[in-house]
Amino acid sequence: MNDTNEMLLEFESKSQNESFARTVVAAFATQLDPTIEELADIKTAVSEAVTNSIIHGYVDRIGIIRMRCVICKDELTVEIQDQGVGIENIAKAMEPLYTTRPELERSGMGFSFMEAFMDQLEVESKLGEGTLVRMKKRVGKVDRLKESVTASQ
Ligand code: ATP
Ligand code: MG
Repeated sequence: MNDTNEMLLEFESKSQNESFARTVVAAFATQLDPTIEELADIKTAVSEAVTNSIIHGYVDRIGIIRMRCVICKDELTVEIQDQGVGIENIAKAMEPLYTTRPELERSGMGFSFMEAFMDQLEVESKLGEGTLVRMKKRVGKVDRLKESVTASQ
């Protein structure tokens, strides 16, 4: 189908790959003609998810982070997956200000940012097996709405 597109990327859980990952997603999302604000939102959400895999998922080791992006019509889906320690209580982990690493000066706002900046957030996780974060956002919708209003005038 012409209105779908997909990419897959695997990289090591090193902190320098956080900016690499968000730049790749931004480049891929460009084909949806996003606004600067939408692009900034997507990059922030991806950074938060990748940082979580790096610091919480693979605590004292380097592992592989898998990132999958799918475009379907005007919607972008980003999946960030690690095979790290996993999350015991997902609902609790997603609460604002909840962190298991206060000593690292984490503020416990990562999931809240992902939720705020994307339209949809799903987290799947199993202790000892890893974590999958799936985020969705419709991109360019405001512009398209404006266009259709202008066209009908
Ligand atoms: P901040 O993101 O504000 O720096 P934080 O990372 O602790 O702080 P969140 O991103 O909201 O806050 O994550 C909340 C908690 O969920 C983390 O403290 C951690 O215990 C757990 N968590 C999040 N992502 C993962 C992951 N990929 N693997 C294991 N645990 C995770
Ligand atoms: Mg975080």
